[in-house]
Amino acid sequence: MSAVRPGSIGTTRVCPHCKATVLASASICPGCRHHLRFNAGTAADAPATRTALRIEGTIGHDVAGESCEYCVVVSISNQHGEKIARQVVGVGALPPGERHSYSFSVELMPVRSGPDRRKA
Ligand SMILES: [Zn+2]
Repeated sequence: MSAVRPGSIGTTRVCPHCKATVLASASICPGCRHHLRFNAGTAADAPATRTALRIEGTIGHDVAGESCEYCVVVSISNQHGEKIARQVVGVGALPPGERHSYSFSVELMPVRSGPDRRKA
């Protein structure tokens, strides 16, 4: 999915636990929360992660006698409006009277500039 060269910013890999595509720099999978690296230094060495965007909401379909199906789609576009990614992250059913909560967040992990660590 990533077009950047290996070892550079934005490089991805697959979580061995849940098979989600995650950043190669991640020490904890954002999907399943399992640890991915055990010799990556202490938590104090890791740059601070901040939540740049969070959207949460609860919806229901309250038409008597009528169930509903849902489809959750996430898309990412760059500043030119070009689609970077579009993915269906969940589908299911929403019976009448039942409510589901949905949460979406974007985490930013600053990358310190400096010498190219791949050559170290
Ligand atoms: Zn995972």
